[in-house]
Amino acid sequence: MTFLFNSDAVRGAIFAEAFARELPDLPFSMDPAAVDPDAVRYLITWTIPDNLARYRNLEIVFSIGAGVDQFAMTALPPSVKVVRMVEDGIVRMMQEYATLAVLTLHRQMPAYRAQQAACVWRPLPQPQAAQRRIGVLGLGVLGQAVLERLKPFGFPLAGWSRSPRDLDGVTCHHGADGLDAMLAETDILIVLLPLTSDTRGFLDAALLAKLPKGAALVHTGRGPQLNHEALLDALDNGQLSGAVVDVTDPEPLPANHPFWTHPNIVLTPHIASITQPDGAARAVIGNLRRHFAGQDPVGLVDPRRGY
Ligand code: NAP
Repeated sequence: MTFLFNSDAVRGAIFAEAFARELPDLPFSMDPAAVDPDAVRYLITWTIPDNLARYRNLEIVFSIGAGVDQFAMTALPPSVKVVRMVEDGIVRMMQEYATLAVLTLHRQMPAYRAQQAACVWRPLPQPQAAQRRIGVLGLGVLGQAVLERLKPFGFPLAGWSRSPRDLDGVTCHHGADGLDAMLAETDILIVLLPLTSDTRGFLDAALLAKLPKGAALVHTGRGPQLNHEALLDALDNGQLSGAVVDVTDPEPLPANHPFWTHPNIVLTPHIASITQPDGAARAVIGNLRRHFAGQDPVGLVDPRRGY
């Protein structure tokens, strides 16, 4: 029985040390060429290796990242469990980023940056937090954590998911009707949806038009969810006032892409939250212990839903 680590060596060294300490009886390898393929029961990787079929006794594939949209699910035998990364560092960093993005938009930092560049000293009218309604698409681990972190500021909070949710201090919506109801009352929309066949291209002109005029977007889901032209049109015709965009398609953007220089877009290179190797090793070890005890791992993916 072997755990095969298929990612970069720096992270691998941290995993190897944690596995040696916590699970000394489980052989750990970072070298696919050096292991007996039949011994590999657990694999951690970013993408599914082409030669996956050689691991005939594979039980779990762990994603090194928070999403599993990079996995071709059809390449995996149905008996193999797929587990996404749920670890404290990812959650904490997303809370930081979403808070930063919301406050950047709420306190009109792009406008003040433009004024600074033009040597203009001019206070702008400032709505209070109680008048700035936040809506989060996706009420999973990250959506809920972000809402929790935003609570002390006093923004009215809402969220939307596939299935009904009940969260303290958050107006929860679900399904198609729920989406329209939330969008109509959202001034800053935060996207924390997984990329699936249902959410690819989801942030299009029709969706952005359902927001109140002058609303803003924080895109921290996955690049292919956002239609770039729709965002640019909405910003240019005043339907949206600003956007903080962390994920794009493609990544990186080409040098001539309009997002780079748009005055109302704050662009970051997919850094909202990054898997922390020590926390990731702890999470995977915890999940292996759950698996050995006959329990489902935290972050178990439903291949039919795609997340
Ligand atoms: P999660 O726990 O699986 O939660 C996903 C949420 O989205 C759930 O509330 C789910 O609804 C909802 N959802 C999924 N498909 C939906 C649909 N078609 N309609 C309505 N709601 C839908 O995922 P998470 O851990 O919070 O992560 C969310 C995503 O954040 C990841 O998949 C990844 O794309 C993104 N992310 C980005 C970064 C970055 O650095 N930019 C870092 C980490 C993660 P139910 O509650 O009904 O299941």
